[in-house]
Amino acid sequence: MHISEEQIRLVNKQIGALVSAGSFYGKKLEEAGIREINSQEDFENLPFSEKADLRDAYPLGLMTAPEKDIVRIHSSSGTTGLPVIIPYTAKDVDDWGEMFKRCYEMAGITNMDRIQITPGYGLWTAGIGFQNGAEKLGAMVIPMGPGNTEKQLQMMQDLGSTVLCATSSYALLLAEEIEKRGIKQNIKLKKGVIGSERWGEKMRKRIADSLGIELYDIYGLTEIYGPGIGINCKYNTGMHYWDDYIYIEIIDPVTLKPLPDGEWGEIVITTLVKEGAPLIRYRTHDLSRIIPGECPCGCRFPRLDTIKGRTDDMMKIKGVNVFPSQIEEILQSFPEVSSEYQIRISHLDGKDTMRIYVETNGHVDFQDLANRIAATIKSRIGFTPLVKVVEIGLLPRSEKKTKRVIDERFD
Ligand code: ZN
Repeated sequence: MHISEEQIRLVNKQIGALVSAGSFYGKKLEEAGIREINSQEDFENLPFSEKADLRDAYPLGLMTAPEKDIVRIHSSSGTTGLPVIIPYTAKDVDDWGEMFKRCYEMAGITNMDRIQITPGYGLWTAGIGFQNGAEKLGAMVIPMGPGNTEKQLQMMQDLGSTVLCATSSYALLLAEEIEKRGIKQNIKLKKGVIGSERWGEKMRKRIADSLGIELYDIYGLTEIYGPGIGINCKYNTGMHYWDDYIYIEIIDPVTLKPLPDGEWGEIVITTLVKEGAPLIRYRTHDLSRIIPGECPCGCRFPRLDTIKGRTDDMMKIKGVNVFPSQIEEILQSFPEVSSEYQIRISHLDGKDTMRIYVETNGHVDFQDLANRIAATIKSRIGFTPLVKVVEIGLLPRSEKKTKRVIDERFD
């Protein structure tokens, strides 16, 4: 995505603030002798920011505005080590609310909706982000927070909630409870706004069908405001994101070079107007691509594709970046194969190759199925794997998470 003049102007303001505050990024820029940028090329020479930088700044090293202007902090739940603390000014909180309000509007939600919010409130950005945007919209918020399914269903019925905000797993749990109790006729839900975890098309369909609602995916991360920086529209052709608040690039996670629109890689985000903790070229490690062209909805905001996983899962086969969920998605489009598969990467004759093992029952021609799968992968991803079809039940199964990708190159 080309950086505009206006975005360059805003990046320069962010750079100025970071340098004056003497933050980790300000120091990186001083070391590199950079005080401003004037072109796309300049921008692409700016150093990246990493989660580790943010962690090193614990507790308040990211604070870029004067303390009197900081009104709140949020924190990302670090699975390892120290958490990351993000300070917000009143303007940051307000900007985030504006972005979230746009998300609701994109989903066709209005001030006549009743929005039941089930993500958690507290240090992390989920619940309060959904709430802030809904209040700006003027809708009626039902701030439930997570858990207590009994109470959730009672409020949903008695107050006639029309919008459910939830993680995909909690939305599924509620959908199943509603079915089990036979109370669907008392439920007035029309729409679901679902947080940005990775979820498959099968799960999406199950929630949408059993509740009879439209689903919208929301994107965001605590380091960059929180959820609400993008959402899909009703055409469901990727998530529109707000490029007046953030600039997004997709980079090759190995070479770190920016990729053209349409190619898959890592999402890198630059904030354009943040005060409490601006971030320049922040590596999210989320995999996606910018969808080229215009959306049928006519909205001018650019689009990101559904998040396909993390960069750590990525493989490079014959010069093409591949990740397991792409293969999985293609396999799922073949009704003849079971849900079990195995991917083996090996190094043969100086080249990396991929072998895919899938299972089917005895009613199809194994070789023909293998050829069709290989051809589909070639046309959609760009290389031809070796596909081996086996009898159902032959691939290993385990009670815990089955290891489906085996890299034999370094054995
Ligand atoms: Zn659209």
